[in-house]
Amino acid sequence: MKIDTKLIHAGEPQPRYEGAVNVPIFQSAMYETGGEWADKGVRYIRYNNTPNHDVLHAKLAALENAEAALVTGSGMAAISGALLAHLSPGDRLLAHWSLYGGTHLFLTEELPRLGIEVDFFDAAAPETWEETMREGTRVVYVETITNPLMEVVALEEIAAFARRHGLVSLIDNTFATPLNFRPAEWGFDLSLHSATKYLNGHSDIVAGAVIGQAEAVDRVKRQLKHLGGTLDPHACFLLHRGLKTLAVRVRHQNASALALAQFLEEHESVAQVNYPGLPGAPDHARARHLLDGFGGMISFEARPGVAAPLLEALTMPIIAPSLGGVESLAIRPAFTSHAGLSAQERLKLGVTDDLVRLSIGLEDTDDLIADFARALDACLMEKQTMA
Ligand SMILES: *Cc1c(COP(=O)(O)O)cnc(C)c1O
Repeated sequence: MKIDTKLIHAGEPQPRYEGAVNVPIFQSAMYETGGEWADKGVRYIRYNNTPNHDVLHAKLAALENAEAALVTGSGMAAISGALLAHLSPGDRLLAHWSLYGGTHLFLTEELPRLGIEVDFFDAAAPETWEETMREGTRVVYVETITNPLMEVVALEEIAAFARRHGLVSLIDNTFATPLNFRPAEWGFDLSLHSATKYLNGHSDIVAGAVIGQAEAVDRVKRQLKHLGGTLDPHACFLLHRGLKTLAVRVRHQNASALALAQFLEEHESVAQVNYPGLPGAPDHARARHLLDGFGGMISFEARPGVAAPLLEALTMPIIAPSLGGVESLAIRPAFTSHAGLSAQERLKLGVTDDLVRLSIGLEDTDDLIADFARALDACLMEKQTMA
């Protein structure tokens, strides 16, 4: 089955529950242990094993051509659960230096307290990797498309490096989605998602997913049973509903983001556009090799003084954090996602005050471009008047 078909049909219960076309919400904390449930063991929402969980697990595994999957209470529950399931005191984690802010904080504020050390490395420079290995290095961690500069690091080489050294390889695949990248096909052990974003796609729940090798997924499942980072049945239902349109959403977002990136690249108020789909992007060749689409996330460096009035002048994107929903969003990372860092740290990550990050939604592409054209021209005129 192609991915579009899997989104609709993979994992659906046979026979359907009472013939229901959609899997109903099983709003029950626990289940009988006798009768027809006897062979299923104890079923309980915190164990992530109700009918609402089962269908999502089977569908998500199918989407990434992986052995197994698990839904979690949030993206951070997936990430923290996967890391804690595979690291013990004395172990070391090798992580790319640019990470989602919440992950970075978990690595630097939580893991050291548990006796787990983190070594940051440059996942784009394979020649430096051997020397970053230390006694006790167990896990390597990267993201498919980095935030907010949208870089695509040497993912194929990372998976091979991990296998060669017996490391567990984890990748946050949130920005790419299973449409654009399927980590299991490239040798990653576990793919992690904030399902809050594209997988659900409607900005109305917080959820996560862990997808990959059956044994590794099972370890995370046992870990989360203890930590309690479970997804409730109603959120499972909404995630299931959102997931069915993933392919049509992401394809539109891929195409729309590319068109807007091309428009922005030509505009005189824009100094630099970060989007791996642009032929001039530093990682474009690698992105073409690895990805089936370049995603719906763009960032760009506005000319000095343009970013703030631009966000005021735009009418279509909502000025809000997060990403992956049906509505376009815009933020300035220096004042939101990366505001907690020092100016120096921000500069190291390439997060200047002029950087704008966009999550492209499902609005008509021409309408979106027209909004940016009007808003950018208004900023330009304002600047000229002031000069
Ligand atoms: C949002 C996000 C997370 C965290 O997910 P939550 O669902 O908010 O817990 C992790 N990684 C990436 C790349 C994200 O965008």
